[in-house]
Amino acid sequence: MLDGECGDCGVVEGQLHKHGCDMERCAYCNGQLISCACAYKMLGYNYDFNAPYSGLPPKIYHDGLSEKEYTKWLAMVDAYGRIPHIIMPNMCGRCGKLWPEMFRVPDEEWRFYLGIDESLMLCHDCYDRIKQLIDARSGLKKYPPRVTEVIAKRNREHAKMMHWIRSRAGKDT
Ligand SMILES: [Zn+2]
Ligand SMILES: [Zn+2]
Ligand SMILES: [Zn+2]
Repeated sequence: MLDGECGDCGVVEGQLHKHGCDMERCAYCNGQLISCACAYKMLGYNYDFNAPYSGLPPKIYHDGLSEKEYTKWLAMVDAYGRIPHIIMPNMCGRCGKLWPEMFRVPDEEWRFYLGIDESLMLCHDCYDRIKQLIDARSGLKKYPPRVTEVIAKRNREHAKMMHWIRSRAGKDT
């Protein structure tokens, strides 16, 4: 898996990406260089994502930068310092296993065991182990019951409310 090449432009680790590579990060904002708004901002446009045409002249909004501006932007990026290609592997946040296989977990279940940190990455073995440990030692009721209890409680409250509304409506007529 770690063969060193950029999956998009093919350069090896330590080299600069080829211009236009979609794996190159922007040295200004750390976003994806080909899609971030830094070019517009650095060229002096009033870029604003929420404004009509994002605050750009409609022609640029539709067709992108002119050849001349694009060349100017590349020169600015070169002068500022580009980020060369280095592979940063995905890693299990618990055991350090590289490139753990992706697996799907319902959002509610993930939150129950791990909180709202969605950038955390885990291998399947660690995730299963974490569930086991928490179920065995936390004293919390095991997932789904706790969640379904909350929903059941909400439904009961809702039913009570509807009953109250209906009884009021009955009195008024
Ligand atoms: Zn590349
Ligand atoms: Zn940027
Ligand atoms: Zn792991």
